[in-house]
Amino acid sequence: MKKIIVILLFIFSLTLVSCKNDTNFDIVTTTYFQYDIVKNIVDDKLTVDVLTKPGVDNHDFMPSSTQMANIKNSKLFIFTSYKIDSWLNENVSQVAGKETIVINLNDYNDVNINDLHYWTDPKLILNFINVVKDEIVKIDPDNKDFYVENATNYYNAINNVHLSMESYFNSKDNVTIYFAGHNAMKYFEDRYKITIIALSNTSKPDADLTSNQITSLLEVIKENSVHFLFTEELKEPKVATTIKNELAEDNYELTLLELHGYHNVTKEDFDNNVSYLQLLERNFNNIKMALGD
Ligand SMILES: [Zn+2]
Repeated sequence: MKKIIVILLFIFSLTLVSCKNDTNFDIVTTTYFQYDIVKNIVDDKLTVDVLTKPGVDNHDFMPSSTQMANIKNSKLFIFTSYKIDSWLNENVSQVAGKETIVINLNDYNDVNINDLHYWTDPKLILNFINVVKDEIVKIDPDNKDFYVENATNYYNAINNVHLSMESYFNSKDNVTIYFAGHNAMKYFEDRYKITIIALSNTSKPDADLTSNQITSLLEVIKENSVHFLFTEELKEPKVATTIKNELAEDNYELTLLELHGYHNVTKEDFDNNVSYLQLLERNFNNIKMALGD
């Protein structure tokens, strides 16, 4: 009998542990870039979930009922904006718990551009690190020093790349790059005063282009002697590959490079803890390559 009770207690405790892991997180974030900021501050001191799983497009995302419960039970819930997290129906208080601290990061977006992809501006990410750090300290003041130190380190690391990019682009005249993705990089463009010509003028990925549109893109590329074409993350670059192959028939060489818009990371990048910082460095390196540096 005693043995049975011990076994039952053991099973019960396992159930408790698994419930905790499955349904409750200290902090819930909607999208990769917020998750990245939080993880770089809390490390393993608090549990963190991201609703939009690796590889998933964050434009048309809908949370599951389990995820909705997780938001309600969280201490801190961070979202991008009512525009992109449209499932919040402009009313986050219906979704968050009474005790949940809520951050709408768009409230801290002090750059006014008519585009929803504000996270492509590293300078704004620096603001967000401080905002998020302050709220994390509120939910777990005992570890304040740890969080402040991590936030400072991450801030400085991103700021270093940002400053390098700023001085690099300041030293160049009329930087123009060509992008075969959707129109996601306006904030980035504006920050560094460069021109990114998006070949598909939509605000969402997966645009189907007609053969006429592809022909006119080919002309744009040839006329401007473009030899590097940037592609967006997560999507197979179908249009860019078509253009590259058609040009190759005329012995015109075109190299495809990724310009990451930080919507989300692949499963592989997620498992390797690839950070916003590393993606920013990748982008910078790819742009330098395209500009011949
Ligand atoms: Zn987008």
